[in-house]
Amino acid sequence: MLFHNIAIIGSDGKTKKNMNVRIDGAFIASIEPCNCDLTDAQKREKDVYDGSGKLLIPGFFNNHSHVPMTLTRGYGEELALEDWLYKRIFPFEALLTEEDVYWGSMLGIAEMLRSGTVSFTDMYMRIQGIFRAVMETGIKASLSNGLTGDDTTVLEETAWYRETEQMRRDAEASDGRVIANASLHAQYTSVPALVRAIADYARENNLRMHVHLSETEHEHEQCKELHGKTPTTYFTELGLFDVPTTAAHAIYIEGEDYDLLRDQGVTLCHMPSSNLKIGSGLADVKSWRDHGIRVTIGTDGAGSNNNLDMIEEVTLASYLAKGIHRDPLLFSTGELLTFATRNGALAQGREDTGLLEPGFRADLAVVDMNALHFQPMYDYGTSLFTNANASDVALTMVDGRILYRDGEFTTIDIEKVIWNVYRVRDEKLAQLNA
Ligand SMILES: [Zn+2]
Repeated sequence: MLFHNIAIIGSDGKTKKNMNVRIDGAFIASIEPCNCDLTDAQKREKDVYDGSGKLLIPGFFNNHSHVPMTLTRGYGEELALEDWLYKRIFPFEALLTEEDVYWGSMLGIAEMLRSGTVSFTDMYMRIQGIFRAVMETGIKASLSNGLTGDDTTVLEETAWYRETEQMRRDAEASDGRVIANASLHAQYTSVPALVRAIADYARENNLRMHVHLSETEHEHEQCKELHGKTPTTYFTELGLFDVPTTAAHAIYIEGEDYDLLRDQGVTLCHMPSSNLKIGSGLADVKSWRDHGIRVTIGTDGAGSNNNLDMIEEVTLASYLAKGIHRDPLLFSTGELLTFATRNGALAQGREDTGLLEPGFRADLAVVDMNALHFQPMYDYGTSLFTNANASDVALTMVDGRILYRDGEFTTIDIEKVIWNVYRVRDEKLAQLNA
């Protein structure tokens, strides 16, 4: 396939216009300046994409999500966090079957593909339902069940263990599209012995770790009271960060936490919409970056966002940093793009993607810059995280395969998906109200 006469953006954020980008199989074969008229041979090629007025970017890596939570989108608005979780979300989730999780995942993945996301890092339960959706749709994912438990929990006897073991086998047969992770839900939903057990399991089985870290002031301060140390120090001492880890939120990290996270190569994931909507607070991403910590962006679940739109998330991250530090130079387009693409790929352990360069995997998105809100156009690159929104994404490609183009999904029957998520919603509400 040839993207003909298209603008591209480099990891430095600089735009190059009038380029030809050739895809060969799953990889980017070449990127060259075009002489903007199609040759006769190119006109006969059926896979030539007219890129005029469009920007080709590396696809987004959504580095923290709970993808089946699309099923609870809008369920329990205008409630305080405790009531939202304990009165709405947990009772609803307790009723979900693997099949329900599959339908919620299909909807979430459709929304991600619709908005240029090529891979996501997820934490949920009944994760074989998510695996099935990932395999059918063609997206990439790092999947895990978030472990919770107390002093009576034996790791090998949990649903977590069963699902994680199964996911390791499933991932082996996924051509590298799915990576099995170990994940711990959080410090406050576990106990030290369990943290040690999951850390040992991850190390022995060579798995990456995923965890919620210092998301609320309450959990952060309570850990200090209970254990005399911050969650970061607590996890460090228990060995949780001995394997490559992505930690989500990290709003309340402080003092030595920064150096501990950097020295152990922990990636932090920023989710400004969720942090704001559920009133958790404001993460200081500039300090993360200044301490040399790898920064990534995620959407969190659709229950607390409420969308899975990475363009909105990156734009919000940019504007918040500008406002908090009163510095309009935070962050450059190149940095923002790196947070949302290459850094996410590296956090997932995918060295061969996340960059728009020959030899890298063709995990890409096309943003159509012809809409009214781009006019008049000065620069494609700097318009990405200022003017663009999810509906401007015209095409999403994973491993050289087009999964979304101009309103159509190539692997998803979206009407069937929507019919089924309504069916699941109505079934669960009937059960809850019985
Ligand atoms: Zn989360």
